[in-house]
This record gives sequence, structure tokens and C-alpha cells, in this order.
Amino acid sequence: MLSSDIAGSIILLTVLMGFSIYFSMTETSITAAGKGKLLALADENPHRKKGFLWLADNVAKAINVTLIGNNLVNIGASAVATSVAISLFGAAGPAVAVAIMTVLIVIFCEILPKNIAIARKETVLLLCLPFLRLFSFVLSPVIAFLQILLKLIGKLLGMDLVSFSALISREEIDHIVSEGSAAGALEEDERKMIHGVIAFEDTRVSEVMAPRTDMYAIEEDESAEESVRIFLESGHSRIPVYKEDIDDIVGILYAKDLLGPLSRGEQHLLIKNLMRKPLYVPETMKTDEALDMMKKSRKHLAIVVDEYGGTAGLVTLEDLIEEIVGDIQDEYDKETPEIRSAGEGCYLVQGQVNLEDLAEALNYPFDTVFEDVDTLAGMILEITGNFPSQGQTVCYGPWEIKVLEVQNHRILEAKMKFTGTTDEGLAD
Ligand code: ADP
Repeated sequence: MLSSDIAGSIILLTVLMGFSIYFSMTETSITAAGKGKLLALADENPHRKKGFLWLADNVAKAINVTLIGNNLVNIGASAVATSVAISLFGAAGPAVAVAIMTVLIVIFCEILPKNIAIARKETVLLLCLPFLRLFSFVLSPVIAFLQILLKLIGKLLGMDLVSFSALISREEIDHIVSEGSAAGALEEDERKMIHGVIAFEDTRVSEVMAPRTDMYAIEEDESAEESVRIFLESGHSRIPVYKEDIDDIVGILYAKDLLGPLSRGEQHLLIKNLMRKPLYVPETMKTDEALDMMKKSRKHLAIVVDEYGGTAGLVTLEDLIEEIVGDIQDEYDKETPEIRSAGEGCYLVQGQVNLEDLAEALNYPFDTVFEDVDTLAGMILEITGNFPSQGQTVCYGPWEIKVLEVQNHRILEAKMKFTGTTDEGLAD
């Protein structure tokens, strides 16, 4: 090989390695950014919007382009280096070329550019994007051929190798939000709300309703005067109306609907003449569907029906919205906080507290261990296998749970103490 040929080959080698650096950087910046970041970049850079939207829609294609390009130039560079090395070192040339090219390609064309791309993904994407679209156009026949090949191999293996989904899953969003919160990009309240929105679809009405045992209801043959007493006692503005018994809800009485008749002196008017039609939802319905249904039927309260057609409880818009925004207390709410701190590692917890809320507040996975029950009361019943008596202490894992208040077989309040030891079972 003439020295001018060697010089030409080295220039070619340098150009090919330059392309290799470009493809490595581009590939890593796309995967490090992810679809969410690409869409955000499209918004932040109006003049490059089209390009980023194209990339967000064609992540799989773009990665294939970078992979094909990278392999082409790396193989090309190795071939050029080998021919130069043979002309310089004779039979030892290929071995010398392999040694030098491995070091050059791995360090300068892979590790270094990929690390830079992770650290500066936005800048790298802004620089690389225009060329990427050009390469994508040039390589489109190869990509099309690759798609056909992948389809065929996918069929043979019984896998879908083509429709690579670049969409972000709920779990990923939740994860990103938790990370964003830990890194200080989001406030804790914001994290909780976004988590609430994501978890909303997985929550069932039975988990957020007021159970039938807490329900204030009135019989349809009672008078308007009697209903005033219940409204005052409960502090609620809507009361379910039943016919025979609580499993037979036939209407809802609105406090506002009483104002007219009472102002006209019609205290003895029967509730059945004042009530409105109720909305029923099954207890297994997802909270997002219930919210949708209540919005469409313009009702703030729905009666929750169990699998046997009986009344399981009631749910209001407030119960549903609280799942996203957290506890809402209005002027008439006289709820005591469901979980109160009572000294170090000690908590006073209401029996109906949701296990997910308890898990989050006490940082212990009660909700994943006791999957079949929704509340602390249910959890205690499951641990004891029987009705615990007032004052009884139950041990679960590192927790000592003392039942403080029981009313008609209902666990109203318990004291939970973190002992740090993990004896399981019963202690009286
Ligand atoms: P209100 O303002 O009438 O109390 P909200 O929609 O603000 O109604 O609900 C506040 C809480 O009271 C919710 O947890 C809801 O389940 C509960 N609630 C509403 N009405 C009743 C009722 N009649 N009986 C028992 N609980 C009720």
C-alpha cells in the first residue's frame, strides 16, 4: 500500500469513527430521554417541534437506524484498519488491528460518547436530530426489510417483535413521580395527588364508601319535621330514604328541598313526597367509573349496592375526590383524624381506616399482606379469626395492636405500637 493510500485510509477510518461516535450518542440520548422527555422537548423547542414529535412517534425506528448505522461504520472501520495494518505489519496485521480497534471503538466510540449522551441528553438530541432524520430516510429500505424479517422471526418464536410500544405505563409514571419528588422536583402534596390520580382507576367504590353501619337514613313515611332532627344530628345534607329497611333504599332526601315546605309551615309533609330518585352503583365498580356516572347523572351521592342486592353503604363526590386531593373537611364535618400520633411509635387509629392509607402513614405494607380486607378493623378480625374484645391486644409482625373501642361487634378504635420485634400471633 502506498503511503498516500495509507493516509487516505486513516482519514476514512477517522470519518467512520466520527459516525460511530454520532450513532452511539444518538442511540443513548434517545433511550435516556424516553418518550416523555421527547414530548417535553417538542414543547420547549417550538422551532424543532416537528422533529421531536417525529422522534417520539418513531423511537423504535430511530433506534434501529442508529444500531444499523453504528454497526455499518464499526465494521467498515475495522476492515479499513485491518487492511492498513496488513500493509504495515504483514501477517501480524489483523491481530494488531483487532487490538487497536477494540480499544478505540470500545473507549472512544462507545463508552465515552454514551456517557456524554446520558449526561447531556438534551444538547445531544438537539444536535443529532436533523442528521437522524436524514439517515432514517436513507436507511428506510433496510429498516423496511428488517421489519419483515422481525415479523417472520417473531411468528416463529410466537412473540411480537415489531410493535414496540414507546408509551409510558402507569407504573412508570408513578415511579418517575416518586423519583421526581425524592429529587425535589415535585412537592410531596403534588406527588400524593398524582399518585392518587394513577391509583384512582384501581380503587373500588367499596374501599372509599361510608359503610351502611355509618349511614344516616330515614324511613319514607317519616315527616319533614323528623328529618330535620336527623339532618341536625348527622350534619349531612343528603339522607338516603328507605321503605322497609336499610336494604330497600327508595330515594334521597336533600336538606335544601326541605326549606320550601318548612317555610310554608308544611312540617307534616311525608318524606316520600320530598325525596329524589337515588343513583345506585355496585360496590365493585371502579372509582373512576363511579365519578363519571355521578357527573353524568349530576348526583353528588350514590347508594352502593352489594352483590346480593343489599345496601353496602353510600358514596359521595367528596369520598371520590378525596382519593386524589386527600382529606377534605367542610364546615360541618366533625371527623377526628383517622390516624393520630400518640407518642413515639404509637398511633391511635380508627377501625375503618383504609389499609393503603395506614400502610402509607405507618410505612408498613399492611395493604399488600392483607389483600382481602380493606380496613384496619378487617385486618384485626383476620388476625384474630374472631371478634376481639375491648382491651385485647393482638400482635402482628413488629406491631402490637390494642383494641380500644368495640361497639356491636364493630372495632371503632385501636392503638398501634411499633415494638420492633416480629412475634406473630395473639397476646392477651
Ligand atoms: P355532606 O356535606 O352532606 O356531609 P359530603 O359529600 O361532604 O356530604 O360527604 C362528607 C362525608 O360524609 C363523606 O365521607 C360521605 O360518605 C359522608 N356522608 C354523606 N352523607 C352521609 C349520610 N347520609 N350518612 C352517612 N355518611 C354520609
